Amino acid sequence: MARLPAIFFGHGNPMNALATNAYTQAWSALGAAIPRPRAILAVSAHWYLPGVHVTASRTPRTIHDFGGFPHELYEVRYPAPGDPDLATRVQELLAPVDVARDERWGFDHGTWSVLVHVYPNADVPIVQLALDETKPPSFHYDLGKRLAPLRDEGVLIVGSGNLVHNLHALAWGSHPSQMFDWAERFERQARDFLIARDHEPLIEYEDLGRDALLAVPTPDHYLPLLYVIATQQDGDAVTFPVEGGDAGSISMLSVRIG
Ligand code: ZN
Repeated sequence: MARLPAIFFGHGNPMNALATNAYTQAWSALGAAIPRPRAILAVSAHWYLPGVHVTASRTPRTIHDFGGFPHELYEVRYPAPGDPDLATRVQELLAPVDVARDERWGFDHGTWSVLVHVYPNADVPIVQLALDETKPPSFHYDLGKRLAPLRDEGVLIVGSGNLVHNLHALAWGSHPSQMFDWAERFERQARDFLIARDHEPLIEYEDLGRDALLAVPTPDHYLPLLYVIATQQDGDAVTFPVEGGDAGSISMLSVRIG
């Protein structure tokens, strides 16, 4: 079986689920371009809690984990099946780290707001992996490394967050695509490290100074990127299939490994 890529998606505004724009069109194009996976392992910014958890339900629910959005967004359902066997495989690969099987969570909007465009038929089984909020970035990178064999088993590893994600600095209604200077600088710095395959500074991003602190005020939207890049093997290219920003302080950059 051919090795699948691993992809980090900048998901941005949940309304992208309903929109047709340059980002969503690029997500659709990616889905059409890569070999069809037998399943997806999704690491979403929006499942961030103590401990490592994996969804193990056969019929995960669509979670509308946001407030204040139009009614239509709450009506979106993404009925992709779960894959309890993949959850078991994830537990095996991550042992001895304790991975709890979860029957209550489902797909949060980090996962479905993007995948409704990548796989609109919702016919690829999905397992979500939670981010353990008590652990340092190096822990998350290490888990990503251990999950890398899944790419040779027909599993598409997806990270969903945003490389730059500062809602406090969000410029509502203005700066439609232009990012703030600090956001652009941090994104450029991160891209340079990725191109150079120099992951250490990206793991230790908290040491990168003021731009990094503004770009990543909390780890949740950044950590999914570490899972994706940690799967990089010799010969895997790194590309950026989606580029751009939203509201000044959100980077919509996608990072494709392989
Ligand atoms: Zn988000």
